Amino acid sequence: MLSQSVIKLQAKALPELQTYYQAYLVNKLPPGALFRAETESCAITAYRSGKVLFQGKTAEHEAKKWDKGSQEIKATVKRLPRVEQHGYTPPDNIEELAIIGSDEVGTGDYFGPLVVTAVYVDHKEADTLRQLGVRDSKTLTDERINLIAEHILPLITSSVLVLPNEKYNALQDSGYNQNKLKAVMHNQALLNVQSKLNHPFDGFLIDQFTTPSNYFKLLADRQTVIKENIYFKTKGESVHLSVACASILSRQRFLIEMDQLSDQCGQVLPKGAGSHVDTIAAQIIKAQGIDSLKKLTKFHFNNTEKALKLARG
Ligand code: MN
Repeated sequence: MLSQSVIKLQAKALPELQTYYQAYLVNKLPPGALFRAETESCAITAYRSGKVLFQGKTAEHEAKKWDKGSQEIKATVKRLPRVEQHGYTPPDNIEELAIIGSDEVGTGDYFGPLVVTAVYVDHKEADTLRQLGVRDSKTLTDERINLIAEHILPLITSSVLVLPNEKYNALQDSGYNQNKLKAVMHNQALLNVQSKLNHPFDGFLIDQFTTPSNYFKLLADRQTVIKENIYFKTKGESVHLSVACASILSRQRFLIEMDQLSDQCGQVLPKGAGSHVDTIAAQIIKAQGIDSLKKLTKFHFNNTEKALKLARG
């Protein structure tokens, strides 16, 4: 798959290239080279002669940027921005790989549980899933989420984990921070889906919520941790359908849990952690006492204090 392209530029054009690839320059140069840059997908070597060698998966694409004159580049971007680098960045062809992806919902919501879902998507279902609108999960209304979730369920393999707030709060009290809880749940959901598959697949993709090194540190006390062929990417739902499906199933489950909790306390519980949440929480304190919030909320959020003030005032 490794390809290479060579172009010839006027020597005076080279500083412009060097600026563009500035974030990726390396010190070790081959003989005759003016500079060398190594991005995730392409190595660029510029020679004093004006010859520029592009090697790697995106060699052709990079070479084309400069081959027909670089006017366009100059006008739009001065430097190739350096993307967040770690050893767990998914490969460029991740979309074509058979991946178990995971995503969570409920981390920023005062009411309602933490939900983490892992999903395996078979490549032959990809088109159907896209047609169902799986791609734009962030823009979907609650109604659409429910509808799509029902449709995708028979097409995928999944594991949905729910951490009720009573347990969440007990774990918080025993020293687990939210990232720790997320790490444990992601790892478990991925393991669950892996054990359901009876065929080989290519790897795992986590919608990144912390650095990979911190993720593995948080899991240091766990017996079984997935460490091979695992990738991390922020906005992972736009990188692989499995993560997009995981985010939809997480949201669907979160909505169901919120409905049930609302029924239980005879009050429509709001999402998020804004001031409307404080108001409802204060009403619940007045009617049922502070302890009832330990079952309904992520008690360590500062909404608790604000609600207490409101309830007293
Ligand atoms: Mn996420």
